Amino acid sequence: MNIRQFVNVLVPRFSCRENVLQLSDHRRWSEIIYDHHFQLMVNSASVRNKARLLCLKNPLSGAWLAACPAPALGLQLTNAEFNVLVRWRLGCEIGEECGVCSICGSAANSFGDHLVCCQRNGVIRRHNAIVHYLSKVASASGLPHRLECSVDGESRERPGDIMMLRWEGGGMYMVDVCVSHPLALSNVWSSVRTGRECLEAAEAGKRRKYSGLIQNIDKSYTVFAVSSFGQLSVGAESFLNEMMSCYSTDESSVEEAELNKVKIVQQLQIVIHRELARMLLVGYRSVVRVDPLEGDPLYS
Ligand SMILES: [Zn+2]
Repeated sequence: MNIRQFVNVLVPRFSCRENVLQLSDHRRWSEIIYDHHFQLMVNSASVRNKARLLCLKNPLSGAWLAACPAPALGLQLTNAEFNVLVRWRLGCEIGEECGVCSICGSAANSFGDHLVCCQRNGVIRRHNAIVHYLSKVASASGLPHRLECSVDGESRERPGDIMMLRWEGGGMYMVDVCVSHPLALSNVWSSVRTGRECLEAAEAGKRRKYSGLIQNIDKSYTVFAVSSFGQLSVGAESFLNEMMSCYSTDESSVEEAELNKVKIVQQLQIVIHRELARMLLVGYRSVVRVDPLEGDPLYS
């Protein structure tokens, strides 16, 4: 059996054309096979798992797994945090029981979907952890900025968690951080298309909320939307890339600059996932058991 026949056995509906793909391009052959099997998994999954798999397809969401657990680089996780995050990523039940969140009284499934977006389970702390990490990178990159300042010195509205003072040629630039959970009941049914819908919705919602204010003061504005799986919105990726390009000095070699980018992405993902683990670990101590969700179309 040659490679073409082998791939056609693994991917029955794929018709290999040797004139399109080089037989020596192993990476491409692997991608075809992985994509096919990923699609089979998605097609046979429950609604929740389908959305979860699509969210995990984003390469950034797994950057924390590849991080060397070095405390000096801020890349360490405790055993408890790592354990709960692996269960979260694999879609395993995290709590033994589903029930009611005793903090706010809402229904909480055994996968942690409520706990990572419960407004009384430390969402502000998670938001602030991301803001402070971005501020740290901005400082290390020599980018002057302020946190949580008013847009005009008087207004109580604060659309910019971070205000970059001299951004791309001198202008001010506001960055608004928000976190969204693609598997929350309000998002999960729409997340089965690409897994990125909640990021787009969060960005659109923020822009709507502050549209008048932003137009009036004529300042640039971007939404740094993050999902609870570590996906970043288009605006967030663009802002992070710009900061990373300023992080390395002119003397840095290409390899050093690439390593710095990897480090920053991993550190950001560790910050996001450490907070996620905290919310899951703390939250599950407060879940009061009720009837399980067996037979719910969302999970079966
Ligand atoms: Zn709650």
